[in-house]
Amino acid sequence: MRVLVDDFVERGYFGIILTGGEPTLHPELPRIAAYANEQGLHVRLITNGSRLSQPDFAQALAEAGVRLVHVSVYSVRPEVEARLRGTEDTLPKAYAAIDNAARFGIEVNINCVINKLNADHLHENIRVLVGQHPHIRHFVWNNLDPSMGRAEVNQATFTPRLAEFELSLQRAMKLLHKSGRTFRVEKVPLCYMTDFAWASTETRKIVKGEERIVHFLDDKQTVRQTEWGHIYTEACDVCSLRSICGGLFDRGDGYDPAELHPVFVPLQPVVEHVLGDGTDPSQKPLSFSQWKKRFTRAERDESAPAVQRDASLIPVGRVTDRGERLYAAKRKAEGRKAEASGIAMERGQDEES
Ligand code: SF4
Repeated sequence: MRVLVDDFVERGYFGIILTGGEPTLHPELPRIAAYANEQGLHVRLITNGSRLSQPDFAQALAEAGVRLVHVSVYSVRPEVEARLRGTEDTLPKAYAAIDNAARFGIEVNINCVINKLNADHLHENIRVLVGQHPHIRHFVWNNLDPSMGRAEVNQATFTPRLAEFELSLQRAMKLLHKSGRTFRVEKVPLCYMTDFAWASTETRKIVKGEERIVHFLDDKQTVRQTEWGHIYTEACDVCSLRSICGGLFDRGDGYDPAELHPVFVPLQPVVEHVLGDGTDPSQKPLSFSQWKKRFTRAERDESAPAVQRDASLIPVGRVTDRGERLYAAKRKAEGRKAEASGIAMERGQDEES
């Protein structure tokens, strides 16, 4: 891990995000965090909160220099959270983790994966979480990646239609915006979050011309993420936000391109909102016209792909043998790590207890 950390430092990266699976299962986590912190990186962690619910562990991470944790909460409805986690007691643990982190001076954000089971109450999640833990200042929604984890073999159960979460997401973003909190949204095309297009992770990266590096501990290894495997359709050709939109997330083929529809709002306010964000220390001041010149030049050099989905690809909900094998192997490995760390493994309904 030292080599990777050193590489990030050499590239001038601002920080590192330790994620998983569940990164707190890694026995060396505090040492990795401490080394990255010593090298001057901002260290953050994405966790389900299970281990962080133990005050000792929260204190150890704080002392190692972890500055920010994203605690994952799918739903504040206990029955939905239990169904998605596959175990009963994760919600109280996540709440304890949120409070423990704050107690030891670690900033807390909430991560939520949008899926079919929570799609209608994303705004209820916000009301409850902010009401119970007013120190939370930032939320991150990730639309489900249908090619990952349990979703890979249960797409029909977990993958939402875009229209299923549109209204609730809009309400949730309004609530946060009104309260002065911040938020980001990933893997949601801008036609499903037009009023808050500046909060799209992909759009922000496109506007700022950023890349990020993800180092996977499996055979994917190190991936430079400058484009995200998204597609555009004919509807996008006439859309005013096309040049700064990430399009439709297409890995796992879980989302329907027919759900995209063009929007006709001005692009400039969205770009200016992103450029004017004072919370990003890596962002250099840039006017819209300076940005436009630079952006147009970059677009000429490397125009964004206009890809239509291949009709021969596997449709939503069809489980492949390879997918099942990969999934089973991953779950086995995670189970061993969980057992070694003495924490309960989250299980799907389709898995043996
Ligand atoms: S129509 Fe296409 S380009 Fe326009 S917002 Fe939707 S996905 Fe983005």
